Amino acid sequence: MNIVNPATGAIIAAVQQDDQSSLESKHNNLKEGQKEWSAVPLQKRIEILQAYSKLLAAHIETLAKTLTDEVGKPLQQSRNEINGSISRIEWLTNNAKKYLAEEIMNASAGMTELIRYEPLGIVCNISAWNYPYLVGTNVFVPALLAGNAVFYKPSEFANLTGLQIEKLLKEAGVPENVFQVAIGGAATGEILLSLPLDGYFFTGSYKTGKYIYEKVAPKMVPCQCELGGKDPLYVTDDVEDVAAVASGTADGAFYNNGQSCCAVERIYVHEKVYAAYVDAFVKEVQSWKIGNPLEDGVYLGAISRQSQLEFLENQVADAIAKGATLLTGGKRIEGDGYFFEPTVLTNVDHSMLVMQEESFGPIIGIMKVSNDEEALQMMNDTSYGLTASVYSTNRKRAEKILAATDAGTGYWNCCDRVSAALPWSGRKHSGFGATLSHAGIRAFTQPKAFHLRG
Ligand code: NAD
Repeated sequence: MNIVNPATGAIIAAVQQDDQSSLESKHNNLKEGQKEWSAVPLQKRIEILQAYSKLLAAHIETLAKTLTDEVGKPLQQSRNEINGSISRIEWLTNNAKKYLAEEIMNASAGMTELIRYEPLGIVCNISAWNYPYLVGTNVFVPALLAGNAVFYKPSEFANLTGLQIEKLLKEAGVPENVFQVAIGGAATGEILLSLPLDGYFFTGSYKTGKYIYEKVAPKMVPCQCELGGKDPLYVTDDVEDVAAVASGTADGAFYNNGQSCCAVERIYVHEKVYAAYVDAFVKEVQSWKIGNPLEDGVYLGAISRQSQLEFLENQVADAIAKGATLLTGGKRIEGDGYFFEPTVLTNVDHSMLVMQEESFGPIIGIMKVSNDEEALQMMNDTSYGLTASVYSTNRKRAEKILAATDAGTGYWNCCDRVSAALPWSGRKHSGFGATLSHAGIRAFTQPKAFHLRG
């Protein structure tokens, strides 16, 4: 399997793809490994994951360079991602004992009732490419902490990073047979779905997630899907510094070229501040440096997948055909790599693809609204439900709107952020189940109830 650098179009490496027999043999390894790993004391497992985190920090420059070469994001954003992973591991390892320890629920008159959090067994992690360190960390770190073995399938667009993760986990002390990597695309994923694994944790698109959920259902094992989003953001009329809000929210829409599950994908602005907001927003977008992701100061690198260029051009064409105004951008940048101009559309409405289907690229539609009710109605008019954001000086006003949104996360005066302490969880076509937080540690366990008389 060839690895292509999306910033140059050049083949930079080749990796050996797995097949049925190599995956079966890795599965057998994991069966052995899991028994051994679940017997390792939790404190030791915590220390091993902490050692992995230290290795990430020690090798950050090499790892960031590989990530950038493979997915096209600016080098500083690759470093940010690895640092983000390190801080999530810190939270997960610091809280593992609290949420994995045996819990005595009742102890009275000769009867003790307690819960033990047993591992699921072999956890399958089918992962995405847009933040391979972060989305991987959300799954394999708590899974390993809880005593599971992990079959990790990095995206076919992030293979080199997947292999580096494996190398460092093993260097940190995760036994060989406890973490195995499956290399390949959909065909490799299909084989993993056919194996009798004990839980499936998927990060990716709604289309693949739906397919996986249906395919896993007869196994009667846990399945979690962290999927895409069409995340709305509403700027009310009481914001004080419109220009600052515009530049902060533009970052929420365009960071990592908009290839974030929680990227801002739709913006609604109160009519009283609309003109000033749009003006400042476009100025901000036009100030960014686009190009070689290894170069200092570049904010927009390459789009990770070539096929996305045509997809984005279609969204732009559809919007313009239905009456949208293109304020800046709108097309691919010709050259060797896969680059797309940051694109801002106004006069948009919900008949347009750009306001309905996940763009996953540097493109945004901004719509004028006249009050909170209209904004809320627009925000909820989506098949997705990952995050929603409100900018306002009035917390009560913002919280009232956020409480009424059908999304797993609400942001007041912020957006496009994830905290390890809080559940990361979608609704509707954004998926179900949670990673991170106490819920995301226990997701990798099966609670066993003990009724102990005597
Ligand atoms: P994708 O659905 O194309 O692929 C995801 C993974 O599924 C890859 O590893 C791929 O090889 C595998 N796969 C594809 N077909 C398969 C099949 N038939 N059987 C088994 N596995 C199969 O998604 P992607 O392009 O890698 O990621 C982008 C999507 O992920 C976006 O929609 C984004 O919003 C979403 N995402 C969500 C979160 C979240 O936390 N909610 C985080 C990151 C990305």
